[in-house]
Amino acid sequence: MNDVTLSLDEVRDLATRALLANGCNQANADAVADTVTAAERDGCKSHGLFRIPGYVKSLKNGKINGQSTPVVMQPGPCIVKVDGDRGLAPLALQMARAPLIEAARKNGMAALAIRRSHHYAALWPETEALAIEGLVGMAFVNSPPYMAPAGGKAPFFGTNPMSFAWPRPDGGAVVWDQATAATARGELQIAKRDGHAAPECAGIDRDGNPTTDPAAILEGAQLPFGGYKGGAIALMVDLLCGPLIDEVSSQEVAAEDNGDGGPATGGELVLAIDPGHFGGANAIARGERLLDALSSMDGVRLPGNRRLAARAQTPTHGAAIPASLHQAIQDLL
Ligand code: NDP
Repeated sequence: MNDVTLSLDEVRDLATRALLANGCNQANADAVADTVTAAERDGCKSHGLFRIPGYVKSLKNGKINGQSTPVVMQPGPCIVKVDGDRGLAPLALQMARAPLIEAARKNGMAALAIRRSHHYAALWPETEALAIEGLVGMAFVNSPPYMAPAGGKAPFFGTNPMSFAWPRPDGGAVVWDQATAATARGELQIAKRDGHAAPECAGIDRDGNPTTDPAAILEGAQLPFGGYKGGAIALMVDLLCGPLIDEVSSQEVAAEDNGDGGPATGGELVLAIDPGHFGGANAIARGERLLDALSSMDGVRLPGNRRLAARAQTPTHGAAIPASLHQAIQDLL
């Protein structure tokens, strides 16, 4: 397959122009282009330019409000709520970040609940941004029902991802970010596009039979990682992002979604904890000891290190995307 290599400025420019040409105002286009560019920079292909055609489809058919003006509210000292105005999550997250950080620093911890918003991206940008500010960050998102619960044969849960970030004394962070599905849906879509097999245990076909055919899994159901244990975490994410904040559960997302494959509506919960209010300076020092011991073990690496390695290289080498995707985005301008 032919690739086109773009600089990060070219990635941002292409994403911004495609969004502006298809119904986003400047604030929304800039916020989404930031997440797309960060994903390409960090080698997270399934959340980079690959997502632009899906964003555009949902902007054009009116599912998403590209002119959204998220409203940030603070009903209590530790609670930040955002009404996303049916827009894309990046702008809502951007507007809520400062109040969330301020509330966590003041009170020791704070929670952000985002409703009426469409999340289609990775979660590490929101948790890493908190850790860079010296806070522990956690984030959860629910999504349309693509995943069968352990023992089930039909989709029930979204691939309901979650992320965790821990601050490091050098201003960096250790971050993990994962779907509760054995394999992220975007990875299956890319495997289907590129003619690759899906990993074992990624999912089942429409009849409930295990398969490694990504197309059959996309039509059937994905499976949680770790069997019933991953299923339990998917349940937790669904309850935190749905009922807790008066938003739709994965099951209810399906009823509200137009099935266009673009970002569905759903809730997001972000938690920020200030270690200074708990373990004080010892918290970070003890964390470093733990992380050093872990990463010095043979064959072990810290989560997030693959991204950080890509981040160091992309500014020099550029971001390679399939020529067909590049053309598809050009056609949207
Ligand atoms: P992966 O399985 O690729 O990675 C999960 C995490 O494990 C990453 O933090 C990764 O770090 C880390 N990791 C991987 N291999 C190792 C290893 N050998 N040792 C230590 N750590 C390791 O992610 P998923 O496929 O589960 O999810 C991909 C993305 O999809 C996530 O960003 C998620 O937020 C997103 N998503 C978004 C949804 C939405 O609705 N918005 C829905 C579902 C998923 P590293 O990156 O460094 O490899």
